[in-house]
Amino acid sequence: MTNVDVIIAGAGIWGSTLARRFAEAGRKVLVLEKRQNVGGNVRCEIDSETGIEIHSYGSHIFHTSLPQVWEFINRFTTFNGYQHKVLARYKGKTYFLPLGLTLVNSFFNVELTPAELPEFMADEKHSSAIFDAFFRGYTSKQWGRAPEDVDPSIIKRVPVRSTYDVNYFNDYCQGIPLNGYNSIFENLLNHPNITVKCGLGVKLEDGVFKVGTDELPNVPLYYSGPVDALFDYKLGVLPWRTLRFETERLDIADYQGTSVVNYTEAEVPYTRIHEFKHYHPELKDIMAKPKTIIMREYSAEWKLGDEPYYPIDNLKSRELLAAYKVEAAKIPNLVLGGRLGAYKYFDMDKSIESALKVEIN
Ligand SMILES: Cc1cc2nc3c(=O)[nH]c(=O)nc-3n(C[C@H](O)[C@H](O)[C@H](O)COP(=O)(O)OP(=O)(O)OC[C@H]3O[C@@H](n4cnc5c(N)ncnc54)[C@H](O)[C@@H]3O)c2cc1C
Repeated sequence: MTNVDVIIAGAGIWGSTLARRFAEAGRKVLVLEKRQNVGGNVRCEIDSETGIEIHSYGSHIFHTSLPQVWEFINRFTTFNGYQHKVLARYKGKTYFLPLGLTLVNSFFNVELTPAELPEFMADEKHSSAIFDAFFRGYTSKQWGRAPEDVDPSIIKRVPVRSTYDVNYFNDYCQGIPLNGYNSIFENLLNHPNITVKCGLGVKLEDGVFKVGTDELPNVPLYYSGPVDALFDYKLGVLPWRTLRFETERLDIADYQGTSVVNYTEAEVPYTRIHEFKHYHPELKDIMAKPKTIIMREYSAEWKLGDEPYYPIDNLKSRELLAAYKVEAAKIPNLVLGGRLGAYKYFDMDKSIESALKVEIN
């Protein structure tokens, strides 16, 4: 492990973007990844029986309005032009999200115009009905709260679209990589100045970075693992929500006619069902096969050892994070980043943006 200018701990989208930038600037980069493969939570697996790309850590749709990010990522993949739509199933009926003219008109069986929508939604009776159907149960499952504890005021913060646009994201650049998500990481990390080693977690012992018992070279280290784990949880454990996935292979061509359906009632134990083949409508052979794969997603309480998915933002966690940042600032050569290092939910584009902002010196 000599002849290294920079070490990157974690080969997710943040670490891999950064590795590429350092490599292109002429630095020798060592990427150390704790898991057996690169890609972090964007990692997918191709089902050998059906050829379907399974998003192992939940559905990932690339979307951005950041031109520099779109330009960067398009050097490493070509997107298929998929535009994300999310449906919501409530009391046996299916509706288009997000909250807009399509949802409101079909839910109340009315024909409002864009100009009429704001006044209609300002009526407490209507906003409460929408809140109860689409937000209360879903939010309670997502965050593990009793439905009555979900604050109805959140509906006031949910933007209402006064159009029939059912594109889930507002971003004008969207898609799924034609060659799959894993190819992005293969391409990002395929550079003569980058060495990748998987199955090696970086730890900090008495102020020294190590893998196993081996000391790492004393060079700048960019760490995108959990910040509390780096300090052996000495100040406390930062809390997360975790997810559990149940995957099923079905002998039918199409289960739900779309990639994601949210189940908004509190009584349905899962939050959503993903059907992955719909992310690749261009793969006509796979689409036509009488086989599909669905994945039910359950939100669950997190304990140490579980996969961390969503950070829990509250006063206590903010204070704990601030205390860990103070510890991190005492370690020369250490830079924290990514969703685990920053303890912050980032979409992929924001992770890339953050890695593009790191000063290369
Ligand atoms: C359910 C879900 C759905 C999502 N859907 C979308 C979506 O549709 N679109 C979108 O843009 N974003 C989505 N995201 C966000 C996306 O997953 C993140 O933006 C992305 O994974 C962040 O990349 P990262 O590199 O920061 O972290 P990660 O992907 O978590 O990568 C961190 C890497 O560090 C490794 N590591 C940890 N500790 C160590 C250590 N000590 N030493 C070495 N390596 C270590 C980990 O194994 C991991 O590979 C979703 C997130 C969730 C939770």
